[in-house]
This record gives sequence, structure tokens and C-alpha cells, in this order.
Amino acid sequence: MFSYRHAFHAGNHADVLKHTVLLAILRHMTLKETALNVFDTHAGAGLYRLDGDYAKTSEEATEGFLKLVAGKPKTPFASALQDYVEMVAGFNSGGHWSVYPGSPFIIQQLLRERDKLKLWEMHPTDTKTLTANIAQLDAGRQVAILREDGFEGLKKFLPPPSRRALVLCDPSFEVKHDYARVHAMVADAMQRFSTGTYAVWYPIIPRPEAHDLPKKLKTLANKSGKPWLHATLTVKSSKLTQDEHGEVVRPGLPASGMFVINPPHTLKAALKDALPQMVELLKQDQNATSTLESGG
Ligand code: SAM
Repeated sequence: MFSYRHAFHAGNHADVLKHTVLLAILRHMTLKETALNVFDTHAGAGLYRLDGDYAKTSEEATEGFLKLVAGKPKTPFASALQDYVEMVAGFNSGGHWSVYPGSPFIIQQLLRERDKLKLWEMHPTDTKTLTANIAQLDAGRQVAILREDGFEGLKKFLPPPSRRALVLCDPSFEVKHDYARVHAMVADAMQRFSTGTYAVWYPIIPRPEAHDLPKKLKTLANKSGKPWLHATLTVKSSKLTQDEHGEVVRPGLPASGMFVINPPHTLKAALKDALPQMVELLKQDQNATSTLESGG
């Protein structure tokens, strides 16, 4: 338990997808006057160094965010992707990409004074780092960190007083039980607060639970009569390969998806051109592709 550290993965292709979608959702949700509550059930450490030891160990950002900004797209960036790149640029200076913001910092950047953010994190080291990072913001009571289980912790805050909320659920899926817990959490939350926006990230890997999760979320949304949006990004094949010594090479994470219940009505249009550009710039082989579906 708790062997996952997001610092090894920060800025990878999954973060590019997740954070572009997150930002596009928030842009729309912060247009309305009424206060917004954002719940990040699996927050991570908040900020990551792209030139630190963790990032160097995996170099996943090299195949993710850093590849995106180094690439030359055939057409100018779609506005959602441009917005995302500019947002990350705001954390960096001097032409160096040294910092990558995690979901807590992306969200906090967009909050207005009346909005609130709750962050759950359970890893002892990441909770400490997150607390220190958030303290620098001087955000006072606007941002709260809860060192408890995000799946369970969400319950006591729904429905929020302003009746406007975004829930980001981005577990590490270290244990296969997480897939069932995501579904149970969203099902319970929909009962308490059916008009909230629920954004779930999940890995697309050869495992039945991963395959089933978006299907189950779609069924949940349809049964509740709520609209949904499903975006996926694949950068390479999920097949095992062999190196020159005949050793099996695991491909690493090949693809991931974001499933959103009650998405802003602008989200599909925002992602329509952004997703093919992610494929164009992040593809690692001929299997790279994206999908964008909506319903309800
Ligand atoms: N959302 C972050 C971002 O986009 O920057 C990344 C989160 S990372 C994928 C998942 C995090 O969830 C890890 O830091 C892990 O320690 C934490 N975690 C694992 N189980 C948890 C639980 N039950 N409740 C809250 N956090 C948990």
C-alpha cells in the first residue's frame, strides 16, 4: 500500500489529458457568480519538480508535457491545449520547464474568493509536501487538506451549501479494489448531490476492472438521466515486447481516460481539436489515438 508516488509520473501523457480536461471544466464552472466547491479526493503532493530526482527516474514528462511543448503542431494549439500550456508556463520562468503543477495547484489558480477547495491525501510524505506547498499560497481557509480516505471523506460535504461542485477523483489504482471504490463513491455522491460535476481519471490497461469502470460510470449516468462525456488518449500499444536480449519489456502506461458526469456543455467542443493534437504530439507508435464520446 502507498508505494505510488505521483512525483515519478508528474507531467506524463495521462496528466496532459487529465489536466487539460480539468482546466477546461473549471474555466466554464468559474464563469457563474455562485460559489464553487471543488473536491480533489486524491490530491498528491501539489507541485512537482521536472528537474528533480523523481522526475528524472521515470522521465515520464519527457514523453508527456515536455514532448507536447517541444513539438511543432501542424496547426496552432487548440485553445484548451493552449490554455493548459500557458497555465503550466505560469509556474515556470526563464524559459526552463522546471515545475509541474498537480491538480491542487491547477484548481487553486482558478478559485475566486468565494470558492472553496478540499484536498484529500493519505501518503504520509505527500501529505507533508502538499501541506508545505499549499502553505506558501497563504490561501487561509479557502483550501483545506484532509489526511484521510478521499473515497469516504467526500460524503460529509455533499450536497455543498452553494449547490455547485466539481469532484475530481484521481486515485493511483495501486490496488484493484480502487476501481470498485471509484464507482461506489460516485454512485453514493450522485444520490446525495445529483447535479454535481464528477470527473474521474482511470488508466486504460489490460485489466477487466479498468475496462469496466467507464462502462459502469456510463450506466450510472444514464440511469440517473445525467449527461456524460468520455475522453481517452492512447499514445502507444499495450502489447508486451522483447528487447534485443529476449527480455520482456513492459510498455508502461499506454493510455488513459477521463469520464465526466454532468460536464459543462462547452467541454466537448473544447476537447474536439485538443485531443487529436495530443495524439499528434505525444504518439509513440502507430496505435496512438483518441476518442471523444458524450451522451445523456
Ligand atoms: N490528482 C493528482 C494530480 O493530478 O496532480 C495526482 C494524484 S495521484 C494519481 C493519487 C494520489 O492518491 C497519491 O498521491 C496517493 O498517495 C493518494 N491516495 C491513495 N489512496 C488514497 C485515498 N484512499 N484517499 C486519498 N488519497 C489517496
